[in-house]
Formats: sequence, C-alpha cells, structure tokens
Amino acid sequence: MFVAHIGGVESRLHFCGGGIMTYKIISSQCTACSACEPECPNVAIYEKDGTFVINPKKCTECIGYFDDPQCVAVCPVDNTCVVDHSYPRYQA
Ligand code: SF4
Ligand code: SF4
Repeated sequence: MFVAHIGGVESRLHFCGGGIMTYKIISSQCTACSACEPECPNVAIYEKDGTFVINPKKCTECIGYFDDPQCVAVCPVDNTCVVDHSYPRYQA
C-alpha cells in the first residue's frame, strides 16, 4: 500500500513538472524553534542564517505521507509555513 501510494505521488509530480509544489517559511516570523525540521518527510527543511527555510525542490506539501503539511501542523507561530505562490500548484 505504501509503495503504491508513493508511486502515485511520483506520477503526479511528473505530471506537474516535478517537485514544483511547495511551502515556504516566512523568515520574519520564524522563531527558529526547529520543531518543523524533523517532521518533514522529505527532509526539505533546514537551518540557514538563524532561521529555517524550505527547499522548494524537495517539498511536496506532504502529499503521499500525511493528510496535512506537517510543518504547518507543528509550527507554533500561525501563518509562518505557507504556500509559496511563486510556484504553480498541482491541479487534480
Ligand atoms: S509541507 Fe511537508 S514536505 Fe513540504 S516542507 Fe512542510 S513538512 Fe516538508
Ligand atoms: S516550527 Fe515554525 S517557528 Fe519553528 S523553526 Fe519551523 S517555521 Fe520556524
């Protein structure tokens, strides 16, 4: 079941161009608590210059792993992990 699910994700990513769905962290609001970093299934979050950032090439909005973006779920500061609208999103 798990493998099949991942295969579906890969197919959808290929359809939309590959890894172009992404969240971003509003650096001015990030307290660098690091809560989000270990929760990301794609290891897309890392520390940089005293704050945390998301690698848009790795973020898949947690699709295939969780129903909701985990960085959003664990971040204690509302509206800090948000959709990066500079990237086109997958359309079902
Ligand atoms: S939405 Fe999911 S995959 Fe993207 S950065 Fe957040 S935890 Fe990682
Ligand atoms: S959980 Fe939120 S405040 Fe904490 S490091 Fe991640 S983005 Fe920053």
